[in-house]
Amino acid sequence: MKLQSLLDLFKVLKQVIIMSLTENRYMQSALEAAKEAAKRGEVPVGAVVVDSATNEILSVQSNRVLELKDPTAHAEMLAIREACLKKKSERLIDCDLYVTLEPCPMCAQAISFARIRRLYFGASDKKGGGVENGAIVFNAKSCHHKPEIYSEIMSGASSVLLRDFFKDRR
Ligand SMILES: [Zn+2]
Repeated sequence: MKLQSLLDLFKVLKQVIIMSLTENRYMQSALEAAKEAAKRGEVPVGAVVVDSATNEILSVQSNRVLELKDPTAHAEMLAIREACLKKKSERLIDCDLYVTLEPCPMCAQAISFARIRRLYFGASDKKGGGVENGAIVFNAKSCHHKPEIYSEIMSGASSVLLRDFFKDRR
């Protein structure tokens, strides 16, 4: 292999490592929010919206369905709402969403409406998910914006959190 192509390879590898480290940092914040939700008796799911242009965290939210008595108060919905208020826009162009669990169909549709650039999620949700399971919302004809999707980001930690939560309830 020529030295130049070796150097190019290193450059690409370095980029991948840096990317995965920042991905993990944001997912870590989402996981912390999820843990905090569990303490409040809410299903432990956390979500973070990041402006990719500035790397600014626009919102960190977790489930508040019981607290707000609102069936739509999922972490993703609350995180999108807060980020939109901050951006003073109904669209989150160039923003990425990190969520610890595969979004449900409602949240997936909201992610599409908000024009989220990238969706990173942790554990997949065979029963309630709507991205890679169930309705597979982004593949529907009625869906006009599909984010780039990265799944299984720190999914182990998210699964353990959910499993422990539901184990304690039984
Ligand atoms: Zn949802």
